[in-house]
Amino acid sequence: MIFEPELEAMPLEQLAALQLERVRSLVARVKERVPLYRERLEGVEPGDLGSLDDLARLPFTRKDDLRDTYPLGMLAVPREQLARIHASSGTTGKPTIVAYTAGDLDLFARVNARALAMGGAEPGMTLHNAYGYGLFTGGLGIHDGGERLGLNVVPVSGGMTERQLTLIQDLRPDVITCTPSYALTLAHALTERGTEPGEISLRYAVLGAEPWTERMREEIDASLGVTCTNIFGLSEVIGPGVSCECVEERDGSHVNEDHFLPEIVDRETGEPVAEGDEGVLVFTTLTKEALPLVRYWTGDICSLSREPCSCGRTLARMGPIVGRSDDMLIVRGVNVYPSQVGGVLGRVPELSPHFGLVVRRLGTLDEVEVLVEPKADVLAALTDERVEEIAVRAASLLRDTIGCTMAVTLVGPGEAPRSDGGKIQRVRDLR
Ligand code: ADP
Ligand code: ZN
Repeated sequence: MIFEPELEAMPLEQLAALQLERVRSLVARVKERVPLYRERLEGVEPGDLGSLDDLARLPFTRKDDLRDTYPLGMLAVPREQLARIHASSGTTGKPTIVAYTAGDLDLFARVNARALAMGGAEPGMTLHNAYGYGLFTGGLGIHDGGERLGLNVVPVSGGMTERQLTLIQDLRPDVITCTPSYALTLAHALTERGTEPGEISLRYAVLGAEPWTERMREEIDASLGVTCTNIFGLSEVIGPGVSCECVEERDGSHVNEDHFLPEIVDRETGEPVAEGDEGVLVFTTLTKEALPLVRYWTGDICSLSREPCSCGRTLARMGPIVGRSDDMLIVRGVNVYPSQVGGVLGRVPELSPHFGLVVRRLGTLDEVEVLVEPKADVLAALTDERVEEIAVRAASLLRDTIGCTMAVTLVGPGEAPRSDGGKIQRVRDLR
């Protein structure tokens, strides 16, 4: 079902007109209320923006702007109007603090209700929410969205895997939300209990907060007996619910672009790329009150498609995040993204979705070793020669695709990184 059909399936001209009107009022608002923007947008008047293309003339906002004004120097409302504070996970450094008015929390709930509905949830269903509750936006964001959609939400939070399984067996939820790496952890624990996917009640899984691969998707679908969809978001823009895949196509995540206007720009020049090309994802928040952002540079690399979708939504679709510029490794001059490695390993049929990277410095050179677990059924029949053959094949596929030589080591079950509740840590940097 579509939660807000008049907005999610709006004719494109009408959407563009709404976005332009909102961009203009945003520019007026931030210039009036946020010192950083007053300075940076000097000389820009809302009326100068004749079309959405003119947005490209405005400067970017970066994570460092939020860090430089830490904790709350970019607020556009008086502090008394805040209703909640969250923080980013701090994956790439000092966490940023983000703030919400009551109106922002209403928006947060609505876009997450949209996302859960996109992923197959319907009013009356039970949601097992295993995203972490607390400063992390995942838990409470999904929680409010679930309630808004009319779900019965079980606020489990992340971790304590045995308790999660017991609750899934006892309360019989229809939908689960968590990180994709934690969904795999739950699936494995379930298999260890001897429970078949058909014996549990789950039908849908809405998974995100970290990059994942098609190989992970196949394994989660099969081992939990669900149809899983991707949900994307970042704290600075609002948290989860910025975009989500529809269960009909599961081919790119529909951006809630009546609220979060996406652009894809060249990572070096900052210029808009041709439609469908990869680049850095940039968001302008159109309706957020406490922390409005103009052209926020996410550092996430992906593409955007305007191909019509069979679900009926007109919202543009983001391709998978192929990497974030901040976790890019430079290995002997070649840019390597951990999620790109995962994508390539997924093309080797004998390998499971469990992998990690170890980076070492040998002399002046950086070396990357890829640790990957073979699939359980392959493992049983492995000889030394076969291990060697699979590792060599994977390494040559990595070299041919990414252009960088990496050693591949096949490791035993549980030896590659796993999630114990939240985002997975795939890279161990020993430099
Ligand atoms: P941090 O930036 O410190 O990790 P957040 O919790 O705000 O803090 O995480 C936002 C980031 O998480 C995004 O910028 C993106 O890199 C990643 N992310 C979130 N959802 C997804 C997803 N579905 N696929 C890939 N990456 C994702
Ligand atoms: Zn769709």
